[in-house]
Amino acid sequence: MKIASVIVDVPARQTDRPFDYLIPARWEDLVQPGIRVAVPFGPRKLQGFVVGVKEHLDVAPDKLKELAEILDVTPVLNEELLSLGFQLAEDTLCFTISAFQAMLPAAIRAAYKKQLLLRGGVPEQVQALFGGKDAIDWEAAEEHPGLLRSLRASIAEGAIEVVYEVKDRAQKKKQRVIYPSAPQEELERLADGLKSEMQQDILRYFIEHYMPVPLSVLKEDVQVTESPVKSLLKKGILTERYVEVYRSPYDEEQFARTVPFPLTEEQRTVIAPILSSIEEKRHEVFLMYGVTGSGKTEVYLQSIEAVLRQGKEAIVLVPEIALTPQMVDRFKGRFGSQVAVLHSALSIGEKYDEWRKILRKEVRVVVGARSAVFAPFENLGIIIIDEEHESSYKQEDNPRYHAKEVAIRRGAYHGCPVILGSATPTLESFARAKKGVYHLLTMTKRMNEQALPAVDIIDMREELRGGNRSMFSALLHEKIADRLQKGEQTVLFLNRRGHSTFVMCRDCGYVVQCPHCDISLTYHRMNQRLKCHYCSYEEVLPQACPSCQSPHFRFFGTGTQKVEEELAKLFPEARVIRMDVDTTSRKGAHEKLLTQFGEGKADILLGTQMIAKGLDFPRVTLVGVLTADTMLHLPDFRASEKTYQLLTQVSGRAGRHELPGEVVIQTYTPEHYSVQLARAQQYEHFFEQEMRIRRAHHYPPYYYLTLVTVSHPQLLQAVHVTERIVAMLRQTCAADTIILGPAASPIARIKDRYRYQCMIKYKREPNLKAVLRMIYEQYQADMAKDLQIAIDFNPTMVM
Ligand code: ADP
Ligand code: ZN
Ligand code: ZN
Repeated sequence: MKIASVIVDVPARQTDRPFDYLIPARWEDLVQPGIRVAVPFGPRKLQGFVVGVKEHLDVAPDKLKELAEILDVTPVLNEELLSLGFQLAEDTLCFTISAFQAMLPAAIRAAYKKQLLLRGGVPEQVQALFGGKDAIDWEAAEEHPGLLRSLRASIAEGAIEVVYEVKDRAQKKKQRVIYPSAPQEELERLADGLKSEMQQDILRYFIEHYMPVPLSVLKEDVQVTESPVKSLLKKGILTERYVEVYRSPYDEEQFARTVPFPLTEEQRTVIAPILSSIEEKRHEVFLMYGVTGSGKTEVYLQSIEAVLRQGKEAIVLVPEIALTPQMVDRFKGRFGSQVAVLHSALSIGEKYDEWRKILRKEVRVVVGARSAVFAPFENLGIIIIDEEHESSYKQEDNPRYHAKEVAIRRGAYHGCPVILGSATPTLESFARAKKGVYHLLTMTKRMNEQALPAVDIIDMREELRGGNRSMFSALLHEKIADRLQKGEQTVLFLNRRGHSTFVMCRDCGYVVQCPHCDISLTYHRMNQRLKCHYCSYEEVLPQACPSCQSPHFRFFGTGTQKVEEELAKLFPEARVIRMDVDTTSRKGAHEKLLTQFGEGKADILLGTQMIAKGLDFPRVTLVGVLTADTMLHLPDFRASEKTYQLLTQVSGRAGRHELPGEVVIQTYTPEHYSVQLARAQQYEHFFEQEMRIRRAHHYPPYYYLTLVTVSHPQLLQAVHVTERIVAMLRQTCAADTIILGPAASPIARIKDRYRYQCMIKYKREPNLKAVLRMIYEQYQADMAKDLQIAIDFNPTMVM
């Protein structure tokens, strides 16, 4: 009797451990670590992951229940990912089941229908199971337990593939493939018996390529028409079948192939230690600090090439918003169909298909956003994280993992280098590099010795004093006009964060708030409605002020729509493309707008953060930042760092090619060091200055941070629990640990739940996880009801 240890899908503290189940004899061959099963759990039947198979019983067999169903025939998580899941649960105090689920594409997380697809030759009785079809449901196979063993062998050989049927908006396509009906040895004899030369050629082709071939490829390769193929089909010498093709948003032929550039001296210096780390299969973390346009991406590409020559695989992470067609082009252009792409704009089916390509070892490079760090490669040779400072690498809900930490764990497991690249590294990374924890690689020269763009900083207070009430300073106005006249392009950047388009009564100052959250409602001009971005509450714009009945409202905040309107007034002839959440919510809209701009179909590209990254348009010679301060005044200790990063990044968009670039930054605090140092792109100065401030205020990288947020429908309960937690922490933490709180969270109520928090700042606190786990245990009963306690290690956004 064998026993399966199963992590069951009951996200609760007391059940976050493996449970044992008997494996029914008929499934003994099929149950292995990494497959999903259904198990009886109390009165319910639940999903779970098999994490181990044991031969010995610790308890009497009649104490154990049997597995109810097996949901996978092949593992969906390999050994490395299973142990990574346990580690992730440990690191972030999330449930093991959530960690496992986070590593899989949504398509297989949900229990969809499972199908078996016939792909090659299989034993006769298995063939019979398919009854002449190419696909059958898994249930049909399960009715023949005697066949399970040979079925599994065929699956292992790749002759049968297990596929989850996904309801998806992307249509599944089919392709007609042709293959010989006879065994390879017989084809020679059959060919000799044929009269037609063309038919003989076709059979000779199959003697060489004994595998199914799409009809179009066959016609092309053998240079024949369809008619000899038809004759062979009629004679029964060839067989045809329709097979599924992967859903893909990319048309492989659209990518022009590129060849590696001869590297510059600086690139050669930087790539040398990476190549030796690859060569020696040595795990090492590199921080590649290089100004925009210094050729970092080319170094990534050539490092990957070395990895592929070793027969290994590569993961490249880029921030979601930087996953532009241009970025995809560069990887597909170099490595063609060996590249899978994973990002949130793909449909659930497309994502699943990209993931399957990885699992079936049909691709060896993955370019993707955060979760691509879990790509199930088994032979990793490099992991690259571009724009390593981006906060989107941290997942903001459970499991609160940071892709950088996961990458480093995987790099250590596979014995391969991890490269963190950025023009503006996080202070944490740069400090580690300076200490020698990371290997620092520096690139200071822009390609072709292009000068950095000239930057003008405009004091908007001065503009106001001079009587200019417009969103555009006189200088920016003049420069836009100049570009329009020359036929060059402008990018305008609205550094807007949060939802500042609120509605205020002109007479009494009343701001319309969400009834369920402590946050003002956002006005959507399109349908004249007010929306809450935290709980999706909606109402129509009131006719009169709810407080004083005045009919006069004022709309605050400079949204992109408002800028667009003003542009239309100032430059009626200009063609403007606006990119924000409203214009890019449809799938593919983002790409389409960028392509239009790239083709010169517009003069001005106007947008939010999403246009700050990775764009590379030769005709853009002017970048305007309308409000540099919005981010600076957020109550976040990283506000200056984020402002510096953003200004540097946007400036990098101008003058990337022959035409020189100019940047205009409008601000109300021109004297701020973030603004001043970003203008000169003096990262190291900025680093020194900001480090002094971090040290003085006990912030990272000098101290670690952990944020505990308590929420409850009753305010007093939230306060009370937070007080108790603070008291427990004070009792156990080290003397130099700082515990702040209880304090109301920046948004003190969301979805009718009150939120209180406590912040722990510490140098060394080896017992912190144990204490926090104890707190969880103590509140277990309350957490099953109304109480929530969220723990965030190294939170990205701290207020
Ligand atoms: P980064 O990633 O640091 O912003 P890129 O790799 O995009 O820099 O390089 C900037 C530009 O220079 C790109 O257009 C790239 O194709 C080109 N480039 C990179 N390396 C070389 C090289 N060795 N020789 C010529 N051009 C190069
Ligand atoms: Zn709300
Ligand atoms: Zn009013």
